[in-house]
Amino acid sequence: MLAGVMAAAHAPAVAQAPSPSIAGNSTTLFENVRIFNGKNAALSAPSHVLVKGNTIERISAAPIDVTAEPGVQVVPGNGRVIMPGLIDMHWHAMLVRPTPAMLLSSDIGYSTLLAGAEATATLMRGFTTVRDMGGPSFSLKRAIDEGLLPGPRIYPSGAMITITSGHGDFRQLSDLPRTIGGMLARVEQLGGSMIADSPDEVRMRVREQLMQGASQIKLTAGGGVASPFSPLDVSTFTEAELRAAVEAAENWGTYVCTHAYTSAAIQRSIAAGVRCIEHGHLMDDATARLMAEKGIWLSTQPFLDLSGASALGPAEQAKMRQVVGGTETVYALAKKYGLKTAFGTDILFSQELAERQGAMLAALTRWHTPAEALVMATSTNAELLTLSGPRNPYPVRLGVVEEGAMADLLVVDGNPLENLDLVADPDRRFLVIMKDGKIYKNTLPQ
Ligand SMILES: [Zn+2]
Repeated sequence: MLAGVMAAAHAPAVAQAPSPSIAGNSTTLFENVRIFNGKNAALSAPSHVLVKGNTIERISAAPIDVTAEPGVQVVPGNGRVIMPGLIDMHWHAMLVRPTPAMLLSSDIGYSTLLAGAEATATLMRGFTTVRDMGGPSFSLKRAIDEGLLPGPRIYPSGAMITITSGHGDFRQLSDLPRTIGGMLARVEQLGGSMIADSPDEVRMRVREQLMQGASQIKLTAGGGVASPFSPLDVSTFTEAELRAAVEAAENWGTYVCTHAYTSAAIQRSIAAGVRCIEHGHLMDDATARLMAEKGIWLSTQPFLDLSGASALGPAEQAKMRQVVGGTETVYALAKKYGLKTAFGTDILFSQELAERQGAMLAALTRWHTPAEALVMATSTNAELLTLSGPRNPYPVRLGVVEEGAMADLLVVDGNPLENLDLVADPDRRFLVIMKDGKIYKNTLPQ
């Protein structure tokens, strides 16, 4: 008996191992499709794409003969476009549907079921991979990987790490003062965010996320819209605290991203070794130049109106207005300095808003051609995912349609390189959705 308990205690930690694939041994042939491969601005000539298991095995202009192989599923494309599954680099799988009040007052079981339903909806919008930028998404990720429910591949950050009063501290004034070594706040108990006020505390919280399988670490380096006591202009962590997080993450082979709108928060992050800035809407020219010089990633979002704060109060909406005012600036600076720019949506607290995930991608046509936007949301985003190095739970090629890459594929009705609005209408326009070599939707005429 004791031996059995000891053996269980020493079982290998699944949290940090590469995640399983549920594709099995099925084979699918997409006939007569024109390929947007995630990189080129032009479609291929009519082609045939053979998927075996979860991998794109062969792409050929000549027909591929599968008559010798039993049980092959043939998908007739009839000249339609096939493209890589979309990637959202700033997603909060656990926080999309509930309001903050609902989240903090209900138990994690209900929130997780909501998140499960949302994960399926996310996949059905054509997003086959998301990078989760804060929230207790480890169990959801595991359930999706095990095939328990359909959803996107999740790169989890775990709890986002913040300071007292920083973005992610959802306590009320009546919760203060916290006793040293005292109770965790509700949001900490849920794993939504962790409050850390010294390099030592930061290190511990970072390592706890890594222990649970975080593929990257998220800190909030400045104020945020949704938090009640963090003005947008403030810088939160000290450089030493940020550096403690960077060291702990790099010791584990991965990287830190910081939530940062202002130049001060961004510059301090860069000085501490942060590799990826989330948002950046309030940065100035010199900061953008610094990001270019240092090769820092910009993971930003086209916030165009106040809808992102619709579930929040007037003070938060005022902050949202300021951020929206910076959207033109951040995209212009990214273009001016050729910043490595990832696409994400950061949709929070509303199922209705989540339905606009594809519309936010389509909104990039204000600054980019459809092809540029689609490259960003596929192969460029996938490049940023590889920064997780040995902590990458999915060490496969994502975001491209190439031989040897992961079979995350969409068949589109229409040409998204000519009309990006198609991605905003996934119910009608995404006729086939394949993830991990498995078809989750097929409404092609049979
Ligand atoms: Zn966020």
